[in-house]
Amino acid sequence: MKVIPFFGFFVLIFPVFILGCAPKPIRVEPHGVKSETKGVYHTVKPGETLWRICKAYGVDMNKVMSLNRIEDPSDIKAGQKIFIPGATKVLEIPLAKPSVDSSVPKFIWPINGKILRGFCADPSRRHEGVDIKAPFGTPIKAAASGRVGFSGWLRGYGNVVILEHEGGFYTVYAHNSLNLVKEGEWVEKGQIIAQVGNSGKAEGAHLHFEIRKGPKPLDPMTLLPKMNSY
Ligand SMILES: [Zn+2]
Repeated sequence: MKVIPFFGFFVLIFPVFILGCAPKPIRVEPHGVKSETKGVYHTVKPGETLWRICKAYGVDMNKVMSLNRIEDPSDIKAGQKIFIPGATKVLEIPLAKPSVDSSVPKFIWPINGKILRGFCADPSRRHEGVDIKAPFGTPIKAAASGRVGFSGWLRGYGNVVILEHEGGFYTVYAHNSLNLVKEGEWVEKGQIIAQVGNSGKAEGAHLHFEIRKGPKPLDPMTLLPKMNSY
């Protein structure tokens, strides 16, 4: 797949205060539903991510993105005001727990297949995961047990599932033809969570798989056992 410079949800937001550029929400009143326009302005604090904000308010992130004209969820910055539809008061956003358990989960390969492209941290050829070739529809397994942090569509990634694991680790499964899990659901290691596809910016069916420790992408090859038969 084409390289996506940084994965929005896990970007740590540094205290760069941008003043006076808060986007105005678009007033949408489908069928006169006024409640759509009610809400609060949440001022982003350092360390908050759009995903965590939306989760705390229980609102759909795509909706928040379109109302606030946010193209890229990694673009939000501390000090920015974000309109949260339907909210009645400003909430404190629980930040990601600092990892007390530094042990690395024992990951398994989500699918077996030829590695089309490996991890590369070099800025000119940056690739924050591995691309694994597999036929369209191949079941994708959770690489470790965890909670579904995101299951939906992201530009470039197409249908993507993000799992949160202990110790501050995340795994990302992109270009799926179908996601089979919902946000908030707990999944066991090896559970089928999606099917291989070519959604988003993908040439041919493959799985783009990432492992992150917090926002930092890691080379999955260093954290996984040798793949069977490849
Ligand atoms: Zn890729």
